[in-house]
Amino acid sequence: MLIVPESEIAALVSPEAAFAAVEEVFAAMARGEAVNFPVIREALGEGRQYGFKSGLDRKGAVMGVKSGGYFPGNAGRGMPNHQSTVFLFDPESGRPTAVVGGNLLTALRTAAAAAISVDRLARKDAKVLGMVGAGHQAQFQLRAAARVRDFERVIAWNYHPEMLPKLGAVAAELGLPFEAVPLERMTEAEVIVTVTSSPAASLMAAHVAPGTHLACMGTDTKGKQEVEPALLARARVFTDEVAQSVTIGEAQHAIAEGLIAEADIVEIGRVINGDHPGRTSEDEITLFDGTGVGLQDLAVASAAVDLAVKKGVAVEVDF
Ligand code: NAD
Repeated sequence: MLIVPESEIAALVSPEAAFAAVEEVFAAMARGEAVNFPVIREALGEGRQYGFKSGLDRKGAVMGVKSGGYFPGNAGRGMPNHQSTVFLFDPESGRPTAVVGGNLLTALRTAAAAAISVDRLARKDAKVLGMVGAGHQAQFQLRAAARVRDFERVIAWNYHPEMLPKLGAVAAELGLPFEAVPLERMTEAEVIVTVTSSPAASLMAAHVAPGTHLACMGTDTKGKQEVEPALLARARVFTDEVAQSVTIGEAQHAIAEGLIAEADIVEIGRVINGDHPGRTSEDEITLFDGTGVGLQDLAVASAAVDLAVKKGVAVEVDF
């Protein structure tokens, strides 16, 4: 069995490699070649969440589970709020094949999912990126989105405004002017990424202009919510996986209110495979409900193992 420690991941898995691995597995899901198993996620109290996301990619011969959770007190102790480990198994024999540090991989695979949605669904001429959220994950989302469109500036809003300068520093590093704005000014953006742990909608339908693409990445649990459900009714809704979108994703609220139906939601893998046109007009609002599926974790972990073997940094243990 191989171990790829968290400390090796940054040098092994580039954002481009994560993008390619996630795009491939989204496509495999839409072809029915890869399946996510039901998610287990439990509240541990005081905002802490823990869970297990797992799946099987028959084509890629990858099976495994990500054990991980969200611990809001960690940042104060100098640790990431997300703590994850990926375990991979041989789908033929069930033998464990690898244990892989999952913290950075989670950030990379989440940023990759949003970037894939921007790449496939946003207007090609998008110039203004709107960010709602300024936590740990927001920095990865900003960098990944900036790789797939030639943005000219970034506007941002956060519930805790004191967190915005850190995100501004990332924009500056990318050479992009950055401005903190009220939510009403999100109408200036052609792409909006939401990535907060909000329990109630911040971004309203009136804050979004026609033609915008939204990547809603923060809602990955029952009870979280980032955008007004009426926005989903106004948009063409895409997701990583419909089953998660309607239960733990942003769509859970629009579904509960009867504003959209499950059948209205399109898996992005279908767009990648050419089975769905994606955006059909310049004025259409497209919304990607990125819930985070286990197969994304397994795809990037498997890529990390391959790269670690190539570089000779995987630790081999008898098990
Ligand atoms: P973080 O703790 O670093 O940041 C939290 C963010 O949420 C900050 O911007 C904060 O200001 C904002 N926030 C907190 N309370 C709020 C409220 N009441 N209203 C509005 N905003 C509020 O967390 P993070 O690592 O940046 O993760 C952000 C969210 O993304 C979390 O909900 C996390 O579970 C989710 N996430 C989703 C995926 C996925 O695949 N979809 C992957 C990773 C993280």
